[in-house]
Amino acid sequence: MSHLGNQQTVYLSAGSLKEIPRICRLHGATRTFLVVDEVAYNLSGAATQLRQFLPPDAITLFSGFEPNPKIEDVERGVAKCRAANPDLVLALGGGTAIDLAKMIASMTKHKASPHDIAVNGIALSEGSLPLIAVPTTAGTGSESTHFAVVYIEGKKYSVADPCLLPCVAVVDPELTYSVPPKMTAATGLDAFCQAIESIWAVGATDESVAYATSAATLAFEHLPTATNAPTPEARHAMSLASHLAGKAINISKTTLPHAISYAITADYGIPHGAAVATTLSCVLAYNFGVSTSDCADQRGAAHVRQRLSLILDILKVASVEDACLQVEAFVSSLGCSPTLAAAGIQSEESLRVLTSRVNAARLSNNPRTANHEDLLSLLQGRSTIATGSRRRTEAPKATAG
Ligand SMILES: [Zn+2]
Repeated sequence: MSHLGNQQTVYLSAGSLKEIPRICRLHGATRTFLVVDEVAYNLSGAATQLRQFLPPDAITLFSGFEPNPKIEDVERGVAKCRAANPDLVLALGGGTAIDLAKMIASMTKHKASPHDIAVNGIALSEGSLPLIAVPTTAGTGSESTHFAVVYIEGKKYSVADPCLLPCVAVVDPELTYSVPPKMTAATGLDAFCQAIESIWAVGATDESVAYATSAATLAFEHLPTATNAPTPEARHAMSLASHLAGKAINISKTTLPHAISYAITADYGIPHGAAVATTLSCVLAYNFGVSTSDCADQRGAAHVRQRLSLILDILKVASVEDACLQVEAFVSSLGCSPTLAAAGIQSEESLRVLTSRVNAARLSNNPRTANHEDLLSLLQGRSTIATGSRRRTEAPKATAG
């Protein structure tokens, strides 16, 4: 059976993992290729449950990969998957396990090597093995997107094809109950930032904005509880927020905070979602200053400002200054750094390195264009806002060194 993408069945409720045997039967699957993050697999309780559902001789297990998918892991997985010849791929874990499974399930069916497919953007015209994605964190929303990230010699590539969208997503909030506070905060911030960025993205549509607005509202309301004193209600809300943010960026893609974040994670070891959050407030301020001369969205600056006003509503504030303060207070309440300076990244030299390594594709999806000097100013917290801001009244910081 081949899955060509665009359609997905979603099971989203506490205990929905129990649907797996029925889903396997619906796909006529007798042999399953299981891609799991072992820590998440055991800690989430999924291992215990799945052992009851799936006979051991019907499973080929693929694990033992590091966070952030590497091309070597994709190649190892494709070789093992071809040898096992499964009817179905089941992914269980965070973004890494699900992204790897997306690439393994599709690239298994293609002659070209995973390396060539990723580097040359070869279309995955043969489709994919049916993939069931089961997230164990409330964060990336990878189960609801048609792209996957892979690192080749330290460089990040994005593989995109309709067939990468898993045909089934099983989002069971119970699997996130054991996620520790720090990881809950970082993954939840990824969902929140993806939702906020999606609202202002050049690629946004009315549909994506509807998903993103719901996701951001849920995360803003429930992430502090999910992190600091989790309840089943807060965990459910975050699982839903993560899934909806995934659906939003599946259409719109992400923007500037994500574009900067990859270098922050690589150079400073700050987890993905927490790294993205360090620049959300200053990019929010920067984007509010959009004008006709620097608007990257063909729909115009007034359209962008109208979208940005949705963010003020979500944050329950009336001005951009208060919106920035609100975002920073929110990030701080989760025990994360609300700015680069708070994360100890503030010398001009280190900020220049970050601006030189910004992901160009994500940057071009930001509604306000930015050159290297603009980026440097905004990372220093010196970007001007059209309506005036606390930031504009600050004296420019002295050059470090
Ligand atoms: Zn992200």
